[in-house]
Amino acid sequence: MRNYKDVTREEWEDWKWQIKNRITTLEELEKVINLTNREKDGIRETLKMFRMAITPYWVSLMDADDPECPIRKQAVPTIEETMFSRVDLADPLAEDLDSPVKGITHRYPDRVLLLITDVCGMYCRHCTRRRLVGKVDKTSNKNVIDQALNYIRNNTIIRDVLLSGGDPLLVDDTFLEYILSELRNIKHVEIIRIGSRIPVTLPQRITPAYVKMLEKYHPLWMNIQVNHPKEITPRMKEGIDLLLKAGIPLGNQGVLLKGINDCPYLHEKLVHELVKIRVRPYYLYQCDLSQGIEHFRTSVGVGIKIIEHLRGHTSGFAVPNYIIDAPGGGGKIPVSPQYVLAFTDDKVILRNYEGGIFSYPEPRNRISYCQEEANSHPKEGVAAIMNGNISSLLPEGTKRMERRKKRKDKNE
Ligand SMILES: *Cc1c(COP(=O)(O)O)cnc(C)c1O
Ligand code: SF4
Repeated sequence: MRNYKDVTREEWEDWKWQIKNRITTLEELEKVINLTNREKDGIRETLKMFRMAITPYWVSLMDADDPECPIRKQAVPTIEETMFSRVDLADPLAEDLDSPVKGITHRYPDRVLLLITDVCGMYCRHCTRRRLVGKVDKTSNKNVIDQALNYIRNNTIIRDVLLSGGDPLLVDDTFLEYILSELRNIKHVEIIRIGSRIPVTLPQRITPAYVKMLEKYHPLWMNIQVNHPKEITPRMKEGIDLLLKAGIPLGNQGVLLKGINDCPYLHEKLVHELVKIRVRPYYLYQCDLSQGIEHFRTSVGVGIKIIEHLRGHTSGFAVPNYIIDAPGGGGKIPVSPQYVLAFTDDKVILRNYEGGIFSYPEPRNRISYCQEEANSHPKEGVAAIMNGNISSLLPEGTKRMERRKKRKDKNE
């Protein structure tokens, strides 16, 4: 069995060597871990539809003998991936509908997603964007990126740009720097964010020279994806330390995965290990409806139970927001245990994490000082109802709305 003992330290620490030596076939994988026959069949069938790529670094974290190893399950395909469910969707978040130009998803008022590549260090078996990721390795060409940058330039409402993909940290240094510097030259872009799993799957990529380049484009934030405490290694921490020393605040966007991390006690350990390395748990995502990943989905109750297990029981900043990215373009919806039990006209009835029930009396004078702001900066959605810009929100396209429209047309 191959154990990388013949690899020099220099090679191992070279991220390009890691990429070049990624495991992409059954034959290569068999040489580094012991596969069961069921696993071999699964890999053979799945690779006809989705690709596999595993960095030697990630392989080194795997249990070579245990198919249930959480590191292994995130990287090694199984036959379940070929079993599409009735509710599976190719574009579960309807990102294509919210894409005004290629490479941009503009769903929220003040921020956009900028997809700059299809390439990832490792292809996660549970990936939401698997329809985009990894068909062939390619970075978006400059022309596409320039048009996307133009969209951002022309829309002054955008104050936050989130680089994503694929994995933005895998594009050429010069190309990433080009994108970052162009964004920095746009006045209304206040912050730039990078969403990347590279610090977890390929920490060799994070070098002193690289973070020196990144820190020129502050304020720059980064979110990584850690799903299991085993991913937090001394080598990974070295890269995290470099990013933090460069002043890049780090958050974690984990995914709730059946058989990998669907346990409150495991999450308690995970969030504690994350805050120890100064990565703040940001989101815990409910698994999406991407094709062939139903076997990773838990019920929503599992996520709520995890939050109940954490909130109040541990440091507030160690508790992520549990998020369902609603299918069909609903966007991120936070879901949490219920803490508000009831309202009366002068008090709110609440419960705490211990199950104690309390009353919070409202003040007598409840007139808000910021009504003028509300009038001059109207919000959309429920926030608009709350600040009085509008009094209702009605769904369009119902039979009732059709009748109303007919009646209105007749009266005019
Ligand atoms: C997740 C996401 C964002 C960023 O959301 P935050 O809640 O601000 O982290 C922006 N645009 C799209 C389309 C997204 O999916
Ligand atoms: S790093 Fe992200 S985009 Fe890439 S395969 Fe994993 S989940 Fe998908």
